[in-house]
Amino acid sequence: MAQNESEADRASASKRMLSLLDGLKRTSAGIVIYDQIARLVGEQEGVQARVDHTYAALLHLLLDAYARDPSADHVTRLNARLIQLRRGFAPAAGGAVSSDDLDERIRQAAAGVTAPAAEKSRPEPAAAPKAAAPAAKEEPPKTVVATESGALTVERRVNNAYRLHLDRQRDEIEKLQEALAKSVTDALSQNREFGALLQIELRALQQAEGEKEIEQLRQILVGGLEELITGQHSLDEKLHRSGGYLKLIKADSERLHEELNKVRLLSLTDEFTGLPNRRAFMRRLQDEISRAQRYGAPLALAMIDLDEFKAINDAYGHAAGDAVLRCYAADVLTVLRHHDMVGRYGGEEFAVLLPNTRQDGAVAAVNKARRRALEVSCNFEGRAFRLPTFSTGIAMYIPGEGHTDLIDRADRALYRAKRLGRNRIETEIAVVPPPRPQGLTNDNGA
Ligand code: GH3
Ligand code: MG
Ligand code: MG
Repeated sequence: MAQNESEADRASASKRMLSLLDGLKRTSAGIVIYDQIARLVGEQEGVQARVDHTYAALLHLLLDAYARDPSADHVTRLNARLIQLRRGFAPAAGGAVSSDDLDERIRQAAAGVTAPAAEKSRPEPAAAPKAAAPAAKEEPPKTVVATESGALTVERRVNNAYRLHLDRQRDEIEKLQEALAKSVTDALSQNREFGALLQIELRALQQAEGEKEIEQLRQILVGGLEELITGQHSLDEKLHRSGGYLKLIKADSERLHEELNKVRLLSLTDEFTGLPNRRAFMRRLQDEISRAQRYGAPLALAMIDLDEFKAINDAYGHAAGDAVLRCYAADVLTVLRHHDMVGRYGGEEFAVLLPNTRQDGAVAAVNKARRRALEVSCNFEGRAFRLPTFSTGIAMYIPGEGHTDLIDRADRALYRAKRLGRNRIETEIAVVPPPRPQGLTNDNGA
């Protein structure tokens, strides 16, 4: 084909050159000269074409000799056949992915999966790497610190590590998929080439005469087939291994996701009642205090403690006590407004934050819950329990005070409610220092 192209090029170059001499044809002497030149050019073209043909034939002979050379290995012979097949063309470009490249990429993807230390029990894939890629060494956090600031740090760390881990895995999966796609394409085109070659060899075999030639061709065919089978096996193995790694990566992501959710929920939710826990409550309290400071809106805090709760445990068992606590969370305290926040503050103690609520409003809200507690009965192991009453201490936020002072005041009111006979609400009146009389110096009278 390339030869035909060069012949066409030459013909058009001759034509262009002769067209420059068209002026000669105006005189009879010029016509004779023009004809002479045209004949010479034609002859030259013919000679050149013959040289090209001879050269191509020689090349073909040489390649054929290589392809049939019994002392050469079958790969060389197949390559010679391949060049014959593609005569005049360079080997296909496109940067095939080498087997090593692909292995390296799979290794990196696997390192990302096998890095978390918690995964010791996970079975290692057959060709698992010995050394993990450095980028994949970061471990997802596993512990939850009990303190409030510790929990925040852990949560942030889990979030960051999780995002990093996912990003890295996404990259690895993309690289792996790319490499696999390339490897499959390469393998297919390689197989096609081998297929074409084998057909040529098969045809040659059909036409071959003489034992020696048949034996040579048979060897080439066997070599080619072996090559095909090896390629197929290696591709199979790679696909199998990559599939395994992708599954591990997916399982790993899911596990991390679950862990993160657990850590998040554990750090903010009381697992037992499903209510926000003390930590979550403190966060919200600080937020609401900042809001109350900024907008001057009233903010009430009610501390609730179940009355004689220990007696329930003692009489019916701890599990019955648990059921009572759950009933309070699910059926009693839910009567409070949606934007009020109820948290489990301790064992049988709940805290309620009532934003934008004055003292009388807070008292009314708690009374609503008290009425509800009288109506509700709690079912436990087929028995219906009357719920215990509860005592409440309410404190209104004083602008400028810290959250612990507000809690202390509500607690004081709660203890007073207990002291005064339980099943009641006490409010804590803030002791605001009276304004200093004009003209006096200071508290010490100085
Ligand atoms: P008071 O009216 O003075 O508050 O009496 P009380 O019995 O409610 O208070 P006390 O402080 O004497 O006892 C509280 C009891 O609550 C003791 C503790 O075992 C129980 N308790 C705390 N947390 C839980 C829990 O999660 N489940 C159960 N079943 N009991 C709990
Ligand atoms: Mg208590
Ligand atoms: Mg109690």
